[in-house]
Amino acid sequence: MIHLTGPILTGTEVHPEAWVVDGTITYQKPDGQPSRTISGTVLPGLVDVHCHIGLGSDVFVEREDALNQAKAVLDSGVTLVRDLGTPGDMTWIDSEVNVPRIIHCGRHIARPKRYLRGIAREIEPNELPEVVAEEAQRSNGWVKLVGDWIDRSGGADSDLTPLWPRDVLIDAVVAAHENGAKVAVHTFATETIDDLLAANVDDIEHGTGMTPDQMKEVAKRGVYVTPTANQVETFIDIANQAGTKYPVYGARMRDMYENRREHQAAMADAGVSFLMGSDAGSTLGFGTLPSELLTCIDAGIPASTVIAAASWEGRQKLGFDALSEGGAADLVVYDDDPRSNPQVLLNPVAVLLDGQPRE
Ligand SMILES: [Zn+2]
Repeated sequence: MIHLTGPILTGTEVHPEAWVVDGTITYQKPDGQPSRTISGTVLPGLVDVHCHIGLGSDVFVEREDALNQAKAVLDSGVTLVRDLGTPGDMTWIDSEVNVPRIIHCGRHIARPKRYLRGIAREIEPNELPEVVAEEAQRSNGWVKLVGDWIDRSGGADSDLTPLWPRDVLIDAVVAAHENGAKVAVHTFATETIDDLLAANVDDIEHGTGMTPDQMKEVAKRGVYVTPTANQVETFIDIANQAGTKYPVYGARMRDMYENRREHQAAMADAGVSFLMGSDAGSTLGFGTLPSELLTCIDAGIPASTVIAAASWEGRQKLGFDALSEGGAADLVVYDDDPRSNPQVLLNPVAVLLDGQPRE
């Protein structure tokens, strides 16, 4: 038994203390002596909704590397991950130790030459509803579509364009929902958003192209948005690499980079329902959700919004408990309340998954 002296924040209540018994949390003092006491501000374990464990610069990493990625994520205070696409089956990792709970999303779905090479399941638009149904069946309730990407067939005029016609997207989201899965879509471009809204997608990833009117509509409908602020920080590199070969695309990426902070703050002002994701894998490192949260706060998204989205609210949006009586003891402990002192996010005092401490 572990004794937690709080405050323990659950989003709805603040408890002065709690106990961990058989992997679960209780607020009723149990009989017997605790084997140890952990003190600090306790939060439901963080959730990284965009974290490609298993993906690396060589596309698909060895098992040992994937386990190191998972451990880095857990050590950062994250006890729940939605992987949002991996190029192969990663379900083997669920039975390993020091691995957060993972919501597997199957493979990214894209068109040939319209995403990073070697990662996505590449199909033609007419196949989308069928393929979405297949990925939905093998996933843990989420599928990932690439909504837009540079179309390099346009020479110097090449730019971001949507991958899927609207009617196909509509059928694809119906197919996902019929198979018990929600749909998350990668999008940078403004032109894609209205189609995503028409198709009733559940979640927009990045969403850097959203106009103020689109933000309002997204907020009104409760579509989730993951800002991936650290990923947007890399848009300047993308713009520079596009260089003289794709000047239109480069200029658009540079524009979004320059407006990123205002854009992120505007999404918060519009009342968008946030999830928080590091986009670890490929170029961004694992265990970087705390840094992502700080970048979002720095941009002007209120700390209380960011922390809630990364902890109790994010967990509930994904269908997971947030330290209710008898729930799983998945939690993270800090020296101070990260809503008033966000820097503590970088140094969790303790991380418990199923009541087992990682320190
Ligand atoms: Zn990603």
